[in-house]
Amino acid sequence: MAKDLPKTGPLNSKELEAVYTMSHVATHALDVDAGLDEIINIARQVFIFDNVVLYFQQEQDSLEPSFARALGRGRSDEDDLAWGEATAIEALETGKLVIRHEILGDYSKDRMMLRFFLGLPMTVRERQVGVLVFVRYGGPPFTDSNFPLAEFIAVHIAQLLEHQQLVKHLSSIEDELRIERLQDDFVSTITHELCTPLGFIKGYATTLLREDTNWDEKTRREFLTIIDEEADRLRELIDNLLDSSRLQSGTLRMEFQPVRLDTMLKDVSMRADAFENKISVNLDLNSTGVIVNADPTRVAQVFDNLLSNAAKYAPNCQVILSLDTEGSLAHISVKDNGPGIAPEHLENIFMRFYRIPNQTNSVRGSGLGLFICRRILRAHKGEITVESKLGEGTTFHVYLPLSQNS
Ligand code: ADP
Repeated sequence: MAKDLPKTGPLNSKELEAVYTMSHVATHALDVDAGLDEIINIARQVFIFDNVVLYFQQEQDSLEPSFARALGRGRSDEDDLAWGEATAIEALETGKLVIRHEILGDYSKDRMMLRFFLGLPMTVRERQVGVLVFVRYGGPPFTDSNFPLAEFIAVHIAQLLEHQQLVKHLSSIEDELRIERLQDDFVSTITHELCTPLGFIKGYATTLLREDTNWDEKTRREFLTIIDEEADRLRELIDNLLDSSRLQSGTLRMEFQPVRLDTMLKDVSMRADAFENKISVNLDLNSTGVIVNADPTRVAQVFDNLLSNAAKYAPNCQVILSLDTEGSLAHISVKDNGPGIAPEHLENIFMRFYRIPNQTNSVRGSGLGLFICRRILRAHKGEITVESKLGEGTTFHVYLPLSQNS
């Protein structure tokens, strides 16, 4: 039997308190299922029912039970439980409160044979979203006096669903805004980084081209050297940007082959002699003939970067480049006795574009180097970590799986 939704009637003080608590749960629950459980438990203290089912409307007017609890009689008998589907369908079709009952056998012996159903349509933002069904075994039947309270329970469950929808909606807006902000940051960082060398190149080239001034040979060379260096820097930045986006999307091709790490580290340390900021590199090769399966260009790029960072951020320092094995891993460490890195920055330095504020004002860089190092090593199933103490120095640890032939 379908009935018009009742006008809310007077509630006693215990019921009022339960309604108030339910409304608090509806607007504060962090998770729908936990919130539903809480509301149902509160409802049980003031409203008699054995089962409760929440049906959601799916496409083409079909209903799917999405939450069901057996709390009273028949709890241990779940297979035979009544879930009131017919009641739910009628409530959905009529948009009205529905009461029904079913007699399945001699209920004087088994109360489970007599079932009463109460179905309440639920609306969220003026749209019917489903039906809440209460079931009682053996009675008492649902009567008019029950309806206001049942209606309150349904309203609060609908409120909980609406609140959760709103939270989801807001967090998706927040995600969109966050991504937009990240993209804006990304574009402004790149623009800034690319514009700096470009500004030098343009400035010095324009100066050299001025027809009203005759530059002496020494000045001309100086300006051309700056243009040359800045063009290199631009090239390096663009390469880094390309590498970083290819590593990010997993499209950077690696050419794996057996690589002798001691030989590679000797080459890397020799290249460091050419750095503008001098560092003295001590090689400490505890293991020789250590072979890893790697892309030699990419792995050498990692060590070049670590030594070039030592030269930039710990200039004129001692650097120890050591090689060892630990179980199935090659362990290479790059240790400097420079200014060190404060603990709050340690993990961030592997993030794209992260540069330590203040420390790097006078040193040029893009914050891409260590991000690229970590990505390259992870593509080799390896890892890079850092330990550092302010005033004492920094050590980068690189781990690579040993080749089976080592
Ligand atoms: P970049 O050198 O282009 O800024 P990196 O990703 O290579 O970018 O390094 C990130 C940051 O880590 C640097 O800006 C610097 O602040 C810090 N850093 C890296 N290596 C060292 C080091 N050896 N000593 C102190 N700080 C370092």
